[in-house]
Amino acid sequence: MVDAATKKLIKSISIDDTSSIKSAMAAIDAGGIGLALLVNTKHKTFAGLVTDGDIRRALLGGAGLSSPAASIPRPNATISQSETSTSEIASLFSKAIRIIPILNNNNQVVDLAMMESRLRLPIAEPVIGEKELSYVTEAILGGWVSSAGSFITRFEKLFAEYCGSNYAIATSSGTTALHLALEALNITTNDEVIVPSFSFISTANAVCYTGAQPIFVDSEQESWNIDPELIEESITPATKAIIAVHIYGHPAKMDAIRNIASKNDLIVIEDAAEAHGALYKGHRVGNLGDVGCFSFYGNKTVTTGEGGMIVTDNPDLAEKIRILRDHGMSPEKKYWHIVLGYNYRMTNLQAALGVAQMEKIDSLLAAKERISLQYSKALRNVPGINLPQDNDWAVRSTWLYTITINAKAFGKNRDELMEFLKSHEIDARPAFPSIHKQPIYNTGQKLDVAEELSNTGLSLPSSVNLLDTDVDRVCTAIKAFHEN
Ligand SMILES: *Cc1c(COP(=O)(O)O)cnc(C)c1O
Repeated sequence: MVDAATKKLIKSISIDDTSSIKSAMAAIDAGGIGLALLVNTKHKTFAGLVTDGDIRRALLGGAGLSSPAASIPRPNATISQSETSTSEIASLFSKAIRIIPILNNNNQVVDLAMMESRLRLPIAEPVIGEKELSYVTEAILGGWVSSAGSFITRFEKLFAEYCGSNYAIATSSGTTALHLALEALNITTNDEVIVPSFSFISTANAVCYTGAQPIFVDSEQESWNIDPELIEESITPATKAIIAVHIYGHPAKMDAIRNIASKNDLIVIEDAAEAHGALYKGHRVGNLGDVGCFSFYGNKTVTTGEGGMIVTDNPDLAEKIRILRDHGMSPEKKYWHIVLGYNYRMTNLQAALGVAQMEKIDSLLAAKERISLQYSKALRNVPGINLPQDNDWAVRSTWLYTITINAKAFGKNRDELMEFLKSHEIDARPAFPSIHKQPIYNTGQKLDVAEELSNTGLSLPSSVNLLDTDVDRVCTAIKAFHEN
């Protein structure tokens, strides 16, 4: 989907491949992006590119204005294909290569990938490529736009396999996934469910939807996840379940949590909304408790726009979740409702997106890891910046790269840094405010670690299509703000 301005630009910098250096200079001047494209006019195919630097060197080397532009010595052109993903194209950029012509299958230039065009750095933008477009188009053309259709089954199957679980049930969001899981596990009024306070609001809200009460527990300093040492003191005769959240993609201490759960006869639910593909002691998260829930919201690591998934090994639970998801309708008898259910289904269009995303999940995770390593390396020695800590038994799936700011050592507080970054078109976000402090809960508890994280945590741009130069820009801005 190339915009009209880019089409016009391509036209203005394209010259016949037999043109002179002088014509190339005129085209470079007309386009204003420092290069001209050599095109075989007869076939309209790409024949190379010349930059203003190439021409300067050629002229200094004795070439004349009328010598053919194609004959001057220059490096091989870096080009890419239209089906190449944004992140792959991004990896080709460097100090010397800031513009990359994108060719179609007929070897014609159809787009220009430009490094400089990325002024605003969003927190986490989805990368929707040709495959997503083609699957969604297939779903639309096939007429299956609602919640029946082959992409739903394909997405559920792919996701179950990925998590190593027997069943996966797609839902309309991560929040509805949590709600359905809790309902299917018979969590209800007067029950209590233990949740970390340091999480996104849904973790607690889903508990309330069932009539049960969320009981907030503090986090541990290291991974920011629920502190297993503090769980037992919160257990009462009403406690039915523990929700373990893998916050920002770092797995919670599942062995300890499972031990407490089995000792006290509690259910374990994973809220893996931020942790697609994270490993706990070599095992993918999602299938480490009784049931696992994921989110595919637009800024999550895998996206379907809005959407969620429940994974489990338990066939009865899976069946119950499917019934609850579909208005509580009997699988045997149409329009016969055996329980109070919901419409929490995912559409086939969303699942089409999801299948395309799952087919490239390895590259999405690799990009997140590359970004996270680059941040950690660049920010390691900045006073007052605390980097995310990984346990050695964990493989984090970085959703948002999140640091904490020690205001004293850094010289400014978190909010000041955030505002500074915003003024530089860098979308940094505060860590989640602790749920026990939110107006709708406000329990009056004092949970030190959670509150500290909420006050000092800052998520940095973490989109998979970030370039090295983008991450550089963020780190340079942070350092500059500290130094001034
Ligand atoms: C995003 C998120 C959710 C909710 O997912 P939605 O798809 O937005 O409903 C739940 N829990 C956590 C920890 C999340 O980050």
